[in-house]
Amino acid sequence: MEKTLVLIKPDAFADGHSGDIIARYESEGFKIAALKLMMMTPAIAAKHYVEHIGRPYYEGLVEFMTSAPLIAMVLEGENVIKRVREINGATNPVNAAEGTIRKLYARDGSKNAVHASDSPSSAAREIAIFFSELEQF
Ligand code: ADP
Ligand code: MG
Repeated sequence: MEKTLVLIKPDAFADGHSGDIIARYESEGFKIAALKLMMMTPAIAAKHYVEHIGRPYYEGLVEFMTSAPLIAMVLEGENVIKRVREINGATNPVNAAEGTIRKLYARDGSKNAVHASDSPSSAAREIAIFFSELEQF
């Protein structure tokens, strides 16, 4: 079954939205295959956001993502990669559709509540950064 990596970013975790966000994914029919509360280190950030290195927002993004705990999880289900990106909404909450997680919970276009993998190859690459085989069920 298809899998995707989701992060509940430090803003949404600190704002107390984790339970509602996880409940939303479960209510859409997705299963949790792995989950942990952790700090993202600069080294993990550089791996996870490798394609963003050098962009003008990169340093601020890493500072934000390493500033406080986040929840990492693997979700599993039919078409989960595309569906979770739809449920999360556009990167900037100003552009996100009503009812999406980013419309509901994001603070702005950087502190935007959640991350989700954007393709099967990204999902495989990103899941391996956060979870060992033994941590996935
Ligand atoms: P997404 O998370 O929707 O896949 P991107 O892959 O384009 O978006 O960007 C990764 C993350 O980098 C975004 O979720 C956001 O936190 C941050 N980001 C992207 N673009 C900007 C920007 N123009 N200004 C500030 N932060 C940004
Ligand atoms: Mg992305």
